[in-house]
Amino acid sequence: MQQSVTIVTGGSRGIGAAICERLAADGHHVVVGYRSDDPAAERVASAVRAAGRKCLTVRLDTVNEEDVDRLFDLAAQLGTVTGLVNNAGVSGPNGRLADADAGGMRRALEVNVLGYLLCARRAVRDMSRTGGGAIVNISSAAATIGSPGQYVHYAAAKAAVDAMTVGLAKETAVNSIRVNCVAPGTVWTEFHADPERPAKVAASIPMGRAGRPTEIAGAVSWLLSDDAAYTTGAILRVAGGL
Ligand code: NAP
Repeated sequence: MQQSVTIVTGGSRGIGAAICERLAADGHHVVVGYRSDDPAAERVASAVRAAGRKCLTVRLDTVNEEDVDRLFDLAAQLGTVTGLVNNAGVSGPNGRLADADAGGMRRALEVNVLGYLLCARRAVRDMSRTGGGAIVNISSAAATIGSPGQYVHYAAAKAAVDAMTVGLAKETAVNSIRVNCVAPGTVWTEFHADPERPAKVAASIPMGRAGRPTEIAGAVSWLLSDDAAYTTGAILRVAGGL
């Protein structure tokens, strides 16, 4: 694992930050992709370097094709990219579909679907040349629950992430590229329009609590590891029983 170079989009905060720190502990050099929060990205980079790994931070919008190419071009400075974690996501408008604005939904669909596809496309192009690798897509338990009254458009976008995982895994197995998905339940991050949502939904979760970002990161690290060498096309639900 010493030579692993892994790109984590949305690596500056929340689940992505925990993934970066866990991957560093597990021997990965890490490229932190983020949208706007420079200090947060630098904090994660410091933690990765403190663990003895190399780290680059790259500010980008994952829905922009040129940005995605720049992300991968810069990442190559750390070595051959062997891993991608498609994690950068936004919920868009909260509430009933009847009240949702088109612009907010369009942005959520672009970030959660097109952004993942653009990053995966570039990863597949590179990894097919360099001997393979592994991609982990962060979906959501919302993909199968549907999130009525909250964000049906987001659930639909995450269902698309599940579908792209299955299809791309089959398409790229011949290129020694594994593609898997982690589907978290509600996790304590700044993702939620209502910051107290993780506490409010606890009673509806069989384990009685929301998850911690570190509990998602462990699953991602395993899927990127050699221990998961025969695992591809899997959707691993990490949702406290939800
Ligand atoms: P978060 O705390 O809001 O962090 C989002 C991260 O993504 C930040 O680093 C942000 O960068 C980055 N980002 C957002 N849009 C981007 C874009 N267009 N281009 C590049 N970077 C972008 O979110 P989170 O809770 O950690 O969620 C991470 C993933 O898990 C998402 O895909 C989300 O859908 C999924 N998920 C979350 C939960 C949950 O309960 N939290 C549950 C299930 C699934 P800046 O800070 O610089 O803007």
